Amino acid sequence: MRPHGKLEYGGQVTPLRTCVGCRVRTVSSELLRLVVVEGVIVPDLRRRLPGRGASLHPTPSCLQLAERRRAFPRAFRVAGPLDLSLVRDHVERAAG
Ligand SMILES: [Zn+2]
Repeated sequence: MRPHGKLEYGGQVTPLRTCVGCRVRTVSSELLRLVVVEGVIVPDLRRRLPGRGASLHPTPSCLQLAERRRAFPRAFRVAGPLDLSLVRDHVERAAG
């Protein structure tokens, strides 16, 4: 096994994910993985948490887009409501 999270360009392993905000497909290392824990959307920084994940660029604009189109309940296949405060905190911190 290779170290977790390492990508090999030109090789075979370049997992692609779609951002639930802007819908752009990109390598998963550029996206923040999110999972739902008891109705709260949690940033899965180590990509270790179990369950259905959603991917998002860690930017305020993609978060806003995802909220506006109600992408999260669809991505997680839950009826909602979902608490976004942890994601918002993380994105705001990441944006500086
Ligand atoms: Zn995006």
